[in-house]
Amino acid sequence: MPSIFTRIINGEIPCHRVYEDEHVIAFLDIGPVSRGHVLVVPKEERVRLDQLSDASAAALGRALRIVAAAVVKATGCVDYNVLQNNGAAAHQAVMHVHFHIIPKYADGSGLGMKWNAGTAPADAAELAGAIAAGARQAL
Ligand code: 5GP
Repeated sequence: MPSIFTRIINGEIPCHRVYEDEHVIAFLDIGPVSRGHVLVVPKEERVRLDQLSDASAAALGRALRIVAAAVVKATGCVDYNVLQNNGAAAHQAVMHVHFHIIPKYADGSGLGMKWNAGTAPADAAELAGAIAAGARQAL
């Protein structure tokens, strides 16, 4: 069954589109956290960021810059957050990869967050080595 975002991409469900290229579409979020809240979505239907093709990932990087600049220009916001959730426990509700661009305004409207900062783990070097090995494998 196609995701709700695939149905938007296919034109079966309306949206307020703000950007489109071969790999990416962007449109206003239906439940905006703040004015100008936009979703940037790969046309490739995958649940998680790490499942995307290189082509989609590269196109998303470019589209995020373009759309973020356009949101700043259109709304007058200076600050904004880019949010990307993977998995239900990480607050993903629509199981099709997407990035949120959420303006943060002087009145405080925008994304609120709780940042659970800890301290560096004792095995930081091993951890970094394991992640680096995985990244090398993907090249
Ligand atoms: P998530 O929690 O998965 O990162 O966020 C999903 C987002 O998709 C929510 O902010 C929600 O408002 C938005 N959304 C869900 N359904 C639709 C829809 O049909 N149209 C649009 N434009 N946004 C949607």
